Amino acid sequence: MRLTVLGCAGSFPGPESPCSAYLVEADGFRLLVDFGSGSLSSLQRYVGLHAPDAILLTHLHCDHILDAVTYVVVRRYAPEGPYPALPVYAPAGAPDRLSAAYHDDGTVEDVYQFYALEPGTFPIGPFTVTVDRVNHPVETYGVRLEHGGRSLCYSSDTAPCDELLRLAQNVDVFLCEASFLDGVDNPPDLHLTGREAGETATKAAVGRLLLTHLVAAWGSEAHTLESATSAYTGPVEVVRAGASYDI
Ligand SMILES: [Zn+2]
Ligand SMILES: [Zn+2]
Repeated sequence: MRLTVLGCAGSFPGPESPCSAYLVEADGFRLLVDFGSGSLSSLQRYVGLHAPDAILLTHLHCDHILDAVTYVVVRRYAPEGPYPALPVYAPAGAPDRLSAAYHDDGTVEDVYQFYALEPGTFPIGPFTVTVDRVNHPVETYGVRLEHGGRSLCYSSDTAPCDELLRLAQNVDVFLCEASFLDGVDNPPDLHLTGREAGETATKAAVGRLLLTHLVAAWGSEAHTLESATSAYTGPVEVVRAGASYDI
């Protein structure tokens, strides 16, 4: 598997990165996981405008879905198009939400073939995908992807929870959000701190921790990295838009 970070900014685009979007490739199949604000730019820069073979949206917060709205134009109105409907695995409310964001009277279901997520394991292309509900204020799925004996877990947005621990158990790479700063009074049931990401990585015995969804304007990358490394002794880094990892 190969993971390419298209966007990793938490909550709103940062000065150096679009919002969450990750391309995962195996056997020539390209799965786009989340499609946050600004990441359509990175998609073109790093992989190609028509690269995705399928999309998985972990939850319907703006910073994870909004470029799936602008991408409608790319699929529907391409000079050589329209392109066939693209599979989109997402919470059940996705068709209505994306359609409403695109236009006040219309649908995006000519562009996307929607499949409603629910906890469980299923195939997407060559991947074995397991999703489960994590601890965030809206219906949100953490994701585990497996292929060829290798594994990747993506936390999506979540506070600490047992579901995330199970999804991350023994994965080779754990792509984990670390939105909040340690040592301040954070609201509950929303996001992880660097220390909590590190603690989860340790408990799940992952091979490598990649921190994402930091909020540049409100956080401190150095502080978050230090907090994570205090709780996890394996390799850890903060990801950047454009970075690629062979898994
Ligand atoms: Zn988010
Ligand atoms: Zn969220």
